[in-house]
Amino acid sequence: MAQSAALLTDESLFGTTITLTNCDREPIHIPGLVQPYGFLLCLDETTKQVVQASENVEAHVGISADELLHKGLERLLGPDRLAAVQALWPTLGTTPKLLGARLDYVKGQPFFKLILHRYAGLLWVEFEPVAETEVSALDLPSLNNTLAQMLEASTVQEFSQRAVEHVREITGFARVGMYRFAPDESGEMIAEDKRTDLDPLLGLHYPATDIPQQARAMYLKNWLRFIPDVDYVAAPLVPVRTPSTGRPPDMTHSVLRSVSPIHIEYLKNMGVAATMTISVIQDGQLWGMLMCHHDSPRLISFELRELCLFIAKTFSALLHNKEQLEQSAYQLRIQEAKTRLFEQMARQPNFLAGLYQQPTTLLDVFDCGGAAIFFEGELITLGYTPTEPQLLELLGWLRANVRQDVFYTDSYARHHPAGRAVRATASGFLAITLSQEPGDYIIWFRPEVLQNVAWAGKHEKVEKMDDGQLFISPRQSFEAWSQEVEDTAAPWLPLEVEAARALRLHISDIRVKMFNELQARAASLSRLNTELTRSNDELDSFAYIASHDLKEPLRGIHNYSVFLLEDYADLLDEEGVSKLKTLVRLSERMEALIDSLLQMSRIGRLDLELQATDLNQLVGEVIELLHPRLEQTNTTVAVRGPLPTVQADPTRLREVLNNLLSNALKYSNKPDRQVTIGEAEPGKAGVLGAINPEGYYVFYVQDNGIGIDPRHHETIFRIFRRLHSQEKYGGGTGAGLAIAKKMIEKHGGELWVESVLGEGATFYFSILKII
Ligand code: ADP
Repeated sequence: MAQSAALLTDESLFGTTITLTNCDREPIHIPGLVQPYGFLLCLDETTKQVVQASENVEAHVGISADELLHKGLERLLGPDRLAAVQALWPTLGTTPKLLGARLDYVKGQPFFKLILHRYAGLLWVEFEPVAETEVSALDLPSLNNTLAQMLEASTVQEFSQRAVEHVREITGFARVGMYRFAPDESGEMIAEDKRTDLDPLLGLHYPATDIPQQARAMYLKNWLRFIPDVDYVAAPLVPVRTPSTGRPPDMTHSVLRSVSPIHIEYLKNMGVAATMTISVIQDGQLWGMLMCHHDSPRLISFELRELCLFIAKTFSALLHNKEQLEQSAYQLRIQEAKTRLFEQMARQPNFLAGLYQQPTTLLDVFDCGGAAIFFEGELITLGYTPTEPQLLELLGWLRANVRQDVFYTDSYARHHPAGRAVRATASGFLAITLSQEPGDYIIWFRPEVLQNVAWAGKHEKVEKMDDGQLFISPRQSFEAWSQEVEDTAAPWLPLEVEAARALRLHISDIRVKMFNELQARAASLSRLNTELTRSNDELDSFAYIASHDLKEPLRGIHNYSVFLLEDYADLLDEEGVSKLKTLVRLSERMEALIDSLLQMSRIGRLDLELQATDLNQLVGEVIELLHPRLEQTNTTVAVRGPLPTVQADPTRLREVLNNLLSNALKYSNKPDRQVTIGEAEPGKAGVLGAINPEGYYVFYVQDNGIGIDPRHHETIFRIFRRLHSQEKYGGGTGAGLAIAKKMIEKHGGELWVESVLGEGATFYFSILKII
């Protein structure tokens, strides 16, 4: 048996050649030997005479085993004690009963404890010398305190920790640990209290093979095993076989039963000189063991052992409750994480982002290493996951093979060979579909158990016995276990699977709701759009018709007013002439307004003639055109070139530039006016915020003029909006910017201004890049 087994059990293989397969057949319950710290007498149930005695009785009391055979206990006990023992006979079963007794007919009359039970047709009387380290076993206040602490513990780990601490406190063992079995019967040290100079065993795992099946079966019957001194020479029973049966007796309930010499050897190799192990049993199953080790012989009194047993039994009884508490806490955590995810999803425009953006993510829902979301061709990963190609392979496998909406496995490799390569992150996974048709998934991953495990055998040195017998070395033992748990992750609990199912339903609900909302919104948007286009078209044609029709009579008014001025000015007084002049001016202004309106309405119906337009050239032409005015106003124009060639309608773009440049030199009080034209820094986005700024060219026209109060940054783009009285800054209809904006928008861009009053203005316009 592996040395690690010695840590765990007081049983091992005995006598024969030992292999992994036959160690389960080792007859450990019938060794025919006892540990010599006490001695054993087996009495026939009916005759009450000694039929077997351990050979070492002589060493203890100076009377040989043979001398005791076929006699009653009166050979050792005086009448009072004998009567007390006889009174116990009828009450005896497999549970040992204790009686303290001085051995009256023995030299020096030593004091022993008699531990009695009835089993297999025999009355078993085991004599234990009173322990040298004997302390008063029952300290009720301290026991009370321990039980209170154990009751308070909210996790199994904490519960175990308190139990081991108390057992160590009352027994003084150098190390006390709680060892828990996994469903595959491998085990882990989950709690430990030890002397500081010892190496910790906490967290170490042990393969199932370390404890043979027959040992497990015996531990269910006999809760406590004790070896006060591993350095013992076993004493045989005399005779070894029970006369009535002709076989060595079944020593399952015997306190002194001798254990396998190999086991003893291992204990010695580990520096363990004394051990006590107590079973923890839940619903008739071996849940774990409380293990005590000491590095020198340690005789613990029967009463103290019984007290430890009491603690282990109390532990066993409360265990269910603690496990439920722990499970409820986990359930609560899952529930809380789920609720937070739902809230996050509700707040996100893209509901899936609610699953992977902080503070709560999919990783918080379950104990897992990583998670992935496959959604409409996108892949998002969280925590530790396989690589993208491996994930895509897994996705392909799921799509091809899994029809369930919720699928889970603790061993992907069992289903698909590709699972072997990803066992470090995705030995197990839990997947839920995101759509009606399988295809989109959320998946949680768990690593292979082996990856997380500290293996006990790695810490051990001894692999070979002196006598050359084959045995399960720590390495072989580990390998056997690795094969069992290879490619396997911690299993998915039913409550986890249920929570995943609920999450899936909720996500489906949200998707259906969002889909409906989107459809409704899209329908109303398209309705609005059609209406808008229609009313725009109507407005455009109305403006066109109105302005066109108005122009005729207006022309007449203008012409007649000019005739009047030319031909009848002499007949009018000065006031009359002045009024007539105002009439001419107003009709001219009205004509200009109508022209603007006409121009504006035309843009709506205009088809752009897009072509490669070299902006360097276009800007040059506009500057050329404005040259006289630039000189008049003492304006310098700097072009930060070279500018790109864009796809645009050059006539329209020329009008835009012309308007912006004219404004730049118009709206200024400075004696030296400066205008700069150039391309904006990459990433500059308009007021509406282009979704993809890289898809646009952005240009600017900057001046050092009067600037515009931010309050008016929007209004100046409305038709006929001027910020100044008619005469100021050279006049204007207030339509230029509105027309320019509409033209830019026709090019798929935006026109906007950035300015502070008194500090100049920068007009930006963007043009969609067309490749
Ligand atoms: P108009 O120049 O015919 O008045 P616009 O539509 O071109 O009409 O401009 C609207 C208003 O925006 C102008 O009246 C002016 O008040 C303001 N504006 C335009 N460009 C500038 C500029 N570069 N600096 C300061 N104000 C400006």
